[in-house]
Amino acid sequence: MNNCGNVGGRKAGHDDSRSGKGRNICAGGGGGYSLGPMAQGKPRILTGDTPTGRLHLGHYVGSVENRLSLQQDYECYFIIANKHAFTTRAQNPDDIRQSVMEIATDYLACGIDPQVSHMFIQSEVPAIDELTFFFSMLLPFNRVMRNPTLKDEIRDKGLGDEYPFGFPLYAVGQTADILAFRPEMVPVGEDQLPHLEMTREVARRFNQLYCGVDPHTEDRDYVKAGGLFPVIEPKLGRVRRLVGIGGPGPDGQLLKMSKSLNNAIFLSDDAATVQKKVMGMYTDPRRIRATDPGTVENNPLWIFHETFNPNQPWVQEMEQAYRQGKVGDVAIKKELVKVLNDLLEPIRQRRRQFEQDPQLVLEALRQGTTAANVLAEQTLALAKQAMKQEYFGRELRLR
Ligand code: ATP
Ligand code: MG
Repeated sequence: MNNCGNVGGRKAGHDDSRSGKGRNICAGGGGGYSLGPMAQGKPRILTGDTPTGRLHLGHYVGSVENRLSLQQDYECYFIIANKHAFTTRAQNPDDIRQSVMEIATDYLACGIDPQVSHMFIQSEVPAIDELTFFFSMLLPFNRVMRNPTLKDEIRDKGLGDEYPFGFPLYAVGQTADILAFRPEMVPVGEDQLPHLEMTREVARRFNQLYCGVDPHTEDRDYVKAGGLFPVIEPKLGRVRRLVGIGGPGPDGQLLKMSKSLNNAIFLSDDAATVQKKVMGMYTDPRRIRATDPGTVENNPLWIFHETFNPNQPWVQEMEQAYRQGKVGDVAIKKELVKVLNDLLEPIRQRRRQFEQDPQLVLEALRQGTTAANVLAEQTLALAKQAMKQEYFGRELRLR
């Protein structure tokens, strides 16, 4: 058996992640590895966002809440997947750059602590691309094209058959975004599950092919059995898929809230914008007057109250009244405006601080990207060793 995960006689398990120090990232040379200080010995998390806009309420309940509650107990890596933004916006590099900064600012405003967690820029971590190429050999082409999230995105974003080759490639790239960090857990929204399933397939396949792991091994035992990559577990948020404020899509289903679908309430929206969006949001289209009985199911107004209103007994009482035509949309919308603004106000206040000092945001990204490179370079070296393609080792340095 050709066990993977040993570098210079040390086992690369979950307890040996390293934080980057300063700007030097040494991950090779002389046959050994310059490994920096031991990290806190915590299990790892990898998750992130595509910089196609700012963070919205869907991100908050789908993923950010989990990140905040887990950042003390896990070593967290948050990827800002700027290359993936090029799949649909290659002609708008300025927008992508701006979104990178917006998303990093949103993370900090939400309470992600850059002293504890590593937020980083995907395109500055070259090991991810190198792993993408190798991993793309482990996934049949038709398997990638059958990925239901890709199909949904092609439909919902109106990509037709005009999308670039890089569009399906991003799903393969995402397996590398994740596995480069050998995380234990990946907090995501429901739409990401097909991507995570592909990631699990890549991990099994790599471990079987190059680390000699028995295909009958239980998923949770792959690393113990000598595999390099854990067969990762998704962690869904409190809400798996928050709908947007607009009406249903072509198939009659309410669309998920998405940066790209123009149906989002952003964490950075000011109070007046939140009010405008909520007052104009889609509700029960058959209800003309406040005295008409209304439908609560599949109605974003009530989905939002159920998700965000801390006073759930009030929500239940009012849902009953709504069903009976005893309360109007306007009153319920006004209450939602209040609930959302209460949630968002502290985030807005923190955001203002960081907006005034973009250098602070950039420095947090630099630190996070440095740490991300240390770990990703180590993973790449181990993967190359397993594939018998480790020849010289190398050093990588951010300026
Ligand atoms: P885009 O429209 O560019 O695809 P997006 O709004 O879908 O953007 P992503 O950056 O693709 O956002 O997703 C980042 C993370 O947030 C993923 O884990 C995703 O599952 C989660 N997420 C995004 N939208 C929602 C939502 N509406 N409900 C729950 N989770 C969500
Ligand atoms: Mg998305």
